[in-house]
Amino acid sequence: MTDTKFPVLPQNQGDRRSLLTRFWETLTNPPESIRQPELRRRMRLLSGLLLLLVAITIPSILSTLLVDPEYKPFSDPIFYLALISAVIFAGCYWLNRAGRYRLSAGLSLTTLSLVVLSAVAITDLMGRTGADGLVNYMLFPVVLSSVLLPVLGTVLLVIGNVIVLALMPNFLSGLSYEVLVYPISFVLVVSAAILVVAVMRQRDLQQIERQADALALAVREAEEANRLKDQFLASMSHELRTPLNAIIGFSEVMQMGLAGELNDKAKHATERIYHNSERLLALINDILDISKIEAGRMEVVLQPFEPANLLASIDDTLKRQAGAKGLAFETSLDPALPDRLVGDFKRLEQILFNLVSNAVKFTEKGSVSVALKRAGDRWLMVVTDTGIGIPPHAHELIFEKFRQVDGSSRRAYGGTGLGLAIVRELAIMMDGQVQIESQPNIGSTFAVSFPIILERESI
Ligand code: ADP
Repeated sequence: MTDTKFPVLPQNQGDRRSLLTRFWETLTNPPESIRQPELRRRMRLLSGLLLLLVAITIPSILSTLLVDPEYKPFSDPIFYLALISAVIFAGCYWLNRAGRYRLSAGLSLTTLSLVVLSAVAITDLMGRTGADGLVNYMLFPVVLSSVLLPVLGTVLLVIGNVIVLALMPNFLSGLSYEVLVYPISFVLVVSAAILVVAVMRQRDLQQIERQADALALAVREAEEANRLKDQFLASMSHELRTPLNAIIGFSEVMQMGLAGELNDKAKHATERIYHNSERLLALINDILDISKIEAGRMEVVLQPFEPANLLASIDDTLKRQAGAKGLAFETSLDPALPDRLVGDFKRLEQILFNLVSNAVKFTEKGSVSVALKRAGDRWLMVVTDTGIGIPPHAHELIFEKFRQVDGSSRRAYGGTGLGLAIVRELAIMMDGQVQIESQPNIGSTFAVSFPIILERESI
C-alpha cells in the first residue's frame, strides 16, 4: 500500500541543549516582559559581558593576594579600583536583569572607560605599555558600546574619554601633551570608523524593525479577515440552510402527494428539486466543516462506541444507490476487533460516509466493500471499490481542498473536491493515518487507521 506523504507533525524531542548552555541561558535571559528580539539579544549580551567582567576581576584580586604574601591590598589603589568596579558591574548586571537595559549599559560602559583611564593614571600605564597599549585599552569600551548602545551613546563615550585623557597632564606630572597626541588622534580616527559601521547597522536594524511592524500589522489584518470570513461563512450557511431545508421538506411533501396529486412531469420536477437541494446542502455542510477545521474550531469528542454500529450506520441511501447501479455492496467486521472502542463516533461516521460515497460514485460495475479490521495496536476502516481508479500522480493531490482527478467542466462525476480533504483533516485530529492504493480502471482502496483506545484507557 502506498503511503501518502502527509505533513509530519512536529514531535517533542525534549531539551537537547547541554546543562552548561541551559545554565548560561538562565543567568543571561532577559525578563519575559521584553518582547523585542533585538533588545533581548543585546540584554543577553550585556548580562554575559558583565558576568565575565565580574568573573575576571574577583579572581585576579584573589590570585594577587595568594601569589604575593607581601602584597598589602589596602594600601594599593588598584585593589580599590578593582573592588569598586566589580561591585558596580554586579549592580549593573542586577539592573539589566531587572529590565533596566539602557541604564545598565550606559553605567557599565562608563565605568569600564573610567577604570581604564584611572588605571592609566594610577599605574603609569603609558610608561609601561606605551601609547599603543593605551589605545588598545581605550578602544575596548568604544567597540563594546557600538554594539550595546545607540550611536549617540558611543559618541558621548568617545568625547568623554578624550576629554578626561586630555585633562590628565594637568594632574599627572609625568604625562605631557606631546605623548598624548598620538593615542588621542588614533582613538578618534578608529572611533569614527566604528561609528560609521554602527550608524549603518542601526539603519539596517531600523529597517528590519519597520518591516517586522509591517509584517505584524499584515498578520493582524489577515487574522481579522479570516475571522470575518469565518463569521460570514457561519451566518451565510445558516441563512442558506434554513430555506434549503424548507425546499427539501416541501419537495418531499409534494412527492408524497400530500399537497395534491402530481402528474408525472411534476413528480419528476419535484424529484430533481429534492436531489439538487440535498446536494447543495451537502456542499454547504462540507464548506462549513472544512472552514471549522481550518479555524481550529472542530472538536473531537471521545466516547465509547461499538464498531458494529459504525458499519451499520452506513447510509441506506448509499446502499440503494449502489444497488441501483448494479453494484454488490459488502461489509465485514474483523472478529479480532474489541466489541467497544473509544473515538468520536460522529466524525468516524463522516469519514466512512465520504469514502463510501466516493466508492459508489466512481464505480460503474463490480463491487464496493467496507471492512473494519484490526492491525496490531491500530484499527482500520478499509473501503475498496472496483471503479475507475486514480492515476499514481494524483494519489497525494486528491487530499487537497477542491482537487479532483478530472477538474474539467466536462467531467462525468459531480462533487466539489472537499470530501477527502475533510477525511484527512479529521483523521489527523484523531491520530489517524490515511493510505491509498489505486490503479486506473481496476479500482481503489482507501484505508484509515486509528490507534485502538479501550474504555479503561480513556478514563
Ligand atoms: P469529490 O468526490 O467531491 O470530487 P473528494 O475530495 O471526495 O471530492 O475526492 C477528490 C477526487 O478524488 C475526486 O474528484 C476523484 O477524482 C478522486 N477520487 C476519490 N475517491 C475515489 C474513488 N473511490 N475512485 C476514484 N476516484 C476517486
